[in-house]
Amino acid sequence: MTVFTPTFAAKRAAKTFRNGLVLSLLAAASFGAFAAPSYQSTELAPGLYMISGSGGNVAFYANGNASLLVDAQYAETAPQLQAELARLAKDSKIGTLVNTHFHKDHVDGNAILGQGATIIAHPNTSKRLNADAKFNKAGLPTKTISATETLTLGQQNVVLQTMPASHTDTDLIVRFDKVNVLHMGDLFFADRFPFIDLKSGGSVAGYIANLKQILASVDEQTKIIPGHGPLMDKAGLTRFLQMIEQTQAEVGQMQAKGLDVDAAVKQGLSAQWKKWSWNFINEERWIRTLYGQTGK
Ligand SMILES: [Zn+2]
Repeated sequence: MTVFTPTFAAKRAAKTFRNGLVLSLLAAASFGAFAAPSYQSTELAPGLYMISGSGGNVAFYANGNASLLVDAQYAETAPQLQAELARLAKDSKIGTLVNTHFHKDHVDGNAILGQGATIIAHPNTSKRLNADAKFNKAGLPTKTISATETLTLGQQNVVLQTMPASHTDTDLIVRFDKVNVLHMGDLFFADRFPFIDLKSGGSVAGYIANLKQILASVDEQTKIIPGHGPLMDKAGLTRFLQMIEQTQAEVGQMQAKGLDVDAAVKQGLSAQWKKWSWNFINEERWIRTLYGQTGK
């Protein structure tokens, strides 16, 4: 997702949110300070962890040599994340930092966590961060890839794959091939409406196409790390794609009846989708996204 600004937090914090931790962070952000996040780290394979704290979910692979980190969350919480990495692994120094896309809650900690590391990203992540006056340039990617690149780290093959524009035009996914773990970045929001950043080259059609392609590449055992929310699997990804396609069809019917976007928002989606709403992308914002509106 994109940046949780204090204004955003203040506007939205009152709404129900499934993740209490993030809610407390939002509340803290609205008072201009970050609360110390607590981390939930799950070992998915030997030395490979999914870490949830503030911002996007992180993957951390430590093999005693050069460790690999996928995404860096916020600069404000990077020291705490560093401490969590040190708790998980004796040698937690990062040799390679991979960014799934350019949004702040995934890259803001780059300068701290990626110090001395190779920072790898989609070429457009590099472009967009370069153009962002607020981004700490010490955290810029040092290497960009197009298409697919495989890193061999210890026992792991780590396959980095840039994706056609979908969540943004900077998207990249990471597969840990030998242990069947996949980090999808913000191509996956667990059981909630996704944010599709149409202002940054994102595309609903592209999002659906990428989900289909990824779905065809996983099996029932694949452990899937979403950009936001708990660990998922193929069934969860299938559910997510079906929700997007079916809500898109509902919106298509409303469009065919001549409803403009405000009328569609007023009518709403069918009741079965209510539970996918959350503070950042509620039903209204999802309908507007499906109508191709870039913002409210
Ligand atoms: Zn994002």
